[in-house]
Amino acid sequence: MDNIHNITIIGSTGSIGTQTLEVADNCKNIRVWGLSSNSNIELLEKQIRKYRPKVACVVSNEKAKELRLKTADTDTVILSGTEGLCDVACVKEADTTLTAVVGISGLIPTINAIKNKKNIALANKETLVCAGHIITELCKEYNVKLIPIDSEHSAIFQSMQGFRKEDVKRILLTASGGPFFGMKKDQLENIKAEDALKHPNWNMGAKVTIDSSTLVNKGLEVIEAKWLFGVDTKNIKVLIHRQSIIHSMVEYKDNGVIAQLGYPDMKLPIQYAIEYPQRLPMKGNEIDFTKYNTLTFDEPDMQTFHALALAYKAAEEGGSMAAVFNGADEAAVELFMDGKIKYLEISDVIEKAMYNIKNIKEPTVDEIIQTDKAAREYVYNEQLRK
Ligand code: NDP
Ligand code: MG
Repeated sequence: MDNIHNITIIGSTGSIGTQTLEVADNCKNIRVWGLSSNSNIELLEKQIRKYRPKVACVVSNEKAKELRLKTADTDTVILSGTEGLCDVACVKEADTTLTAVVGISGLIPTINAIKNKKNIALANKETLVCAGHIITELCKEYNVKLIPIDSEHSAIFQSMQGFRKEDVKRILLTASGGPFFGMKKDQLENIKAEDALKHPNWNMGAKVTIDSSTLVNKGLEVIEAKWLFGVDTKNIKVLIHRQSIIHSMVEYKDNGVIAQLGYPDMKLPIQYAIEYPQRLPMKGNEIDFTKYNTLTFDEPDMQTFHALALAYKAAEEGGSMAAVFNGADEAAVELFMDGKIKYLEISDVIEKAMYNIKNIKEPTVDEIIQTDKAAREYVYNEQLRK
């Protein structure tokens, strides 16, 4: 039997969470000790019955009460609230915490997990975007690994194995371009949530799908790459690659380029992050290159998809500006999905929030949370002012 991996998953009912459990079904060396959802107790109950974790958390207190009654015949302890989420992230038996919650809700549980010496398998990019300086320092201090799950970052991480970090010249971060690639602003005027929710190559949660369409997601990923790999954002180049077969590349000083390729399926980066450094067999999804005899590369259109330019600006300004960018986007996506703002207003309100909210140098965790709140409030108020 290969090494046993004891994991706990925050956000187990989402797209990444459920795919992680599929990976656990296929790799017999993964044990699941903790699960969590925000409010989906139907799926969480099924997961509890199948995986029998020690603890599970539903953030909603009301829903947690219901789930406690439903699962009274099991040994799983049902927790609730942010504290409960932190307890799931820190469950004693786990050596790795897989962060699959969406948005800044992952920040406090991830910090707690690191302080409890858990390695982090990171899907929840927003946490690293908002608090990169804190998370990377804590990982060093507690001597824990931070392994990316985001497909591009997993590809970069894989493309750096066996090479020296100081020999890296540039990161080439690929992007599918989303459903609106090639369109101009006048064609995006009346885009509705259901249009933006149709991603050409990946099946993901709602927030990351909308973010992919606006290129906010690629912006978050530029900042994520800066923290994960210690590369200045001026050396991180976004390339539109419509086929999503090359998941990203690393260019070295001698102009040699190393890439990781594969069928677009998150189960590979999830499995790699848990099993690293070993590569276990995976069923299906072998790539047939004859079906992809053309791989294309384009420059991103940062005028139409202005949010990508704003992310570079946020990274350049540093401090708490990435938390402003992220918080404003989280609020704007919520309003867009509720039909309260138009598609193009998402990047407009992010820009206004970045202009109006004070940048704090070296923010503490509390200051990041306050900044996130201020950015959200700014966006909600901006919508009311209309
Ligand atoms: P989903 O929306 O599918 O799932 C989110 C999970 O987090 C669910 O379990 C949800 O519970 C829970 N959750 C939602 N809000 C909160 C909250 N406020 N507090 C605690 N838990 C919460 O998201 P994805 O799986 O798509 O994405 C998860 C993370 O992974 C994101 O950061 C995303 O950017 C990143 N990622 C995702 C990819 C993908 O292919 N999906 C690819 C690369 C990165 P409930 O079910 O009850 O709502
Ligand atoms: Mg990605």
